[in-house]
Amino acid sequence: MKNKINTKLVKIDPKNIDYKVIKEAADIINRGGTVVFPTETVYGIGADALNDEAVDKIFKAKGRPQDNPLIVHIAQLDEIYSLVKEVPEEARILAEKFWPGPLTMILYKKDIVPDKITAGLNTVALRMPENEIALALIKESKKPIAAPSANTSGRPSPTLASHVVEDLMGKVDMVIDGGSTYIGLESTVLDMTSSLPMILRPGGVTKEDIESVLGECCYDPAIIKSEDKIIPKSPGQKYKHYSPKAKVILYKGSIENIAKTINEDYSKYKSLGFRPGIMSTVQTEKFYIGKTTISMGDRTKPLTISSNLFRGLRDFDHMGVTMILAEAVDEKGIGKAILNRLKKAADKIVEV
Ligand code: AMP
Ligand code: MG
Repeated sequence: MKNKINTKLVKIDPKNIDYKVIKEAADIINRGGTVVFPTETVYGIGADALNDEAVDKIFKAKGRPQDNPLIVHIAQLDEIYSLVKEVPEEARILAEKFWPGPLTMILYKKDIVPDKITAGLNTVALRMPENEIALALIKESKKPIAAPSANTSGRPSPTLASHVVEDLMGKVDMVIDGGSTYIGLESTVLDMTSSLPMILRPGGVTKEDIESVLGECCYDPAIIKSEDKIIPKSPGQKYKHYSPKAKVILYKGSIENIAKTINEDYSKYKSLGFRPGIMSTVQTEKFYIGKTTISMGDRTKPLTISSNLFRGLRDFDHMGVTMILAEAVDEKGIGKAILNRLKKAADKIVEV
């Protein structure tokens, strides 16, 4: 990018928020600048959602395709009424149950929401984040804040401020370091304009969670079938995502078969001149003694895996690994979202 910005990097203790920094960050938002802040999902790059020029800066900093719409973040439930045409009863119930939290809802937009945000769609994506720093910033700026993940488009989303520094230093006005994000995957995107609420992107609020409140919801067929012919309803889902520099192979099957095949492939790729690395779990580390391995977490506590996944992909790059051999996880609960990201990161999927 030409005109390099002098990015200010500041730390905030999430348990003892320094409101002077929040005020400074809100002033930047109100002047049409960009501020990176932590949320409970991943770090977001924020700008005034109702200011076209400010929103443009997000697309430029990330190198994000213009046809990929942004999520608008709010801090209070009433703000939704100024942004959308109507709030169906089901959306209100979900907001009361899951906001603040990792649920984004798609609703019909009012004219006040710029086309730039929605990529020309007549709907807008809305979320109320749970992270106190994020909420304080939205409240202080008194603006809805557009905030996609704070990574270069296509790279793994940032779960630490150091990831943001890697991708966006010199491209944004401020980065707030609030420590590591705890879910580690982007929010669930739920379309409330289809006849049955439809999950366009799986995330921290699961299908089971939504069904416990609404009775029924469905997945966009494009995220269950991997055929290229089905066009996803969420524009962002059609792009290759979450890619480290290394190639990624995903192994699906029983744990024993996965471990056996990964061990064979590790030797094979090494002899071909690659530097392989294994993305394992607490339960499978024992199969890979002496090999380059990062454990994603505990299969019985999938949140440990979601929170470490993107960091693991970036860490392999830092270690000079050129071929990542990744184990699949069970597709239940948040496992659905973990597998969705791994599939998108993968160059090849091997069923064993
Ligand atoms: P990110 O902001 O990087 O977490 O990505 C936001 C996701 O929400 C992308 O996959 C977008 O395509 C999706 N999204 C945002 N707005 C809409 C919308 N109005 N309709 C469908 N998907 C949307
Ligand atoms: Mg993103």
